[in-house]
Amino acid sequence: MFLFFLGIIFLPLFLPEAVENSTPLNDFTRFANYAMWGLWFPLVFLSVILTGRSWCGILCPMGAASAWANKKGLQRPIPAWVRWEGTPIISFLLITVLGQTVGVRDHPEAVAEVFGGTLLLAFVLGFFYGRNKRAWCRHMCPIGLLLGVFSRIGAVQFAPKRKKPGGDRFTEKGVCPTMIDIPRKEESRHCIECFRCVNPQSKGGLFLRLRHAGEEIEQIRKHHPNPYEVVFLFLGTGIALGGFLWLVLPVYQQLRQSVGGWFIEREWYWIGESGPWWLMSVHPERREVFNWLDFGMIVTFMLGVMLILALLLTVTTGVSAWLAGRVGGDLSVSERFVELGYQYAPVAMVSLILGLGGELFAPLTQLGLSQETVGYLKAGLFLVGLVWSLYLGARILINQGVALNSLWLPLLPGVLGSCAVGLAWWPAVFGL
Ligand code: SF4
Ligand code: SF4
Repeated sequence: MFLFFLGIIFLPLFLPEAVENSTPLNDFTRFANYAMWGLWFPLVFLSVILTGRSWCGILCPMGAASAWANKKGLQRPIPAWVRWEGTPIISFLLITVLGQTVGVRDHPEAVAEVFGGTLLLAFVLGFFYGRNKRAWCRHMCPIGLLLGVFSRIGAVQFAPKRKKPGGDRFTEKGVCPTMIDIPRKEESRHCIECFRCVNPQSKGGLFLRLRHAGEEIEQIRKHHPNPYEVVFLFLGTGIALGGFLWLVLPVYQQLRQSVGGWFIEREWYWIGESGPWWLMSVHPERREVFNWLDFGMIVTFMLGVMLILALLLTVTTGVSAWLAGRVGGDLSVSERFVELGYQYAPVAMVSLILGLGGELFAPLTQLGLSQETVGYLKAGLFLVGLVWSLYLGARILINQGVALNSLWLPLLPGVLGSCAVGLAWWPAVFGL
């Protein structure tokens, strides 16, 4: 996988430009791009539903590089700034925005920068910090955070054979590379399924338990609910949406024109100049050259969409949590808020797959399915995500003690929130 990964991210840099109508079958650069965005991205996401973070533990070359570097490295204690729970959220936001400004979905140079840079960081962090651990995977990897949150809806759990009370804890002692206190393990999020703690002959350690998909979120109160994860779920969905919408919405172009005009009126012409290649897409040979105006607009637009969506989901979840308390829900309003925030996981996940991994569906049209049929297929998938989110919302509320006949009341804002996410991704699913 490591060699394959290096080939996919670096080989296209040394090949001639892909010709206009070449396909993944006759051009390696196109193949590499399809392998990355049409297969790897959506399939790794979908795989968490069936097998949790098996990608991380079994296949990921970046995790392997980090683990290898750690063996050879300095093995220093992991500093507090790395361990801070907000670090992977910032890392995810930075990499997603950078991915857009450098055009990671279109340019091999950008793929090499973003994925090669991430690989290098994983290596460096592994070299410096942790003792036989994967500090990168637990604390900083932007993909790991995404997979971790969604692995909570997965059908696989590694559970302690003899469970100790007290709930999940972080520990640098023991075999777990992601620093899970194994006998106290409750949540799937940090488990990369490396199997190090699984030994059928021993009385301790973990065993692989199959469960129905979504179980952990239905019972989230028993699985270490975490406000940072909810923040990430809201912000991550929003930033991914922003990264998609600036490309397709005419309003983005109108805004760009007005802002550009404002700068030109003041004779601030530097706004029309290009910046460094590592910060923005500068590819005259492919007729794409971003200037500081594009850079500023993309970043601002993405952050704006992120904040609006996050605010909307905060309001709908807040109202749900408040109403749940009025109709018999236990816990405090903030605790109910965190639990209910998880209900958006399926709808957010399906939206991400349809919006950013839409190329997965491209071969279907080549196999003879009409655009319309593929559209229905995507809509069907989206509907599954939506209904699943509603179901999870209902289960969480029932576990909070809300009576069945009053369930509809606190559930309603959740329905609105899920529908808002769906509507926001409408152009990706059905076109404009
Ligand atoms: S956390 Fe990131 S680097 Fe680590 S194994 Fe998973 S995807 Fe790879
Ligand atoms: S050691 Fe066990 S708990 Fe830790 S990541 Fe590996 S499989 Fe998961």
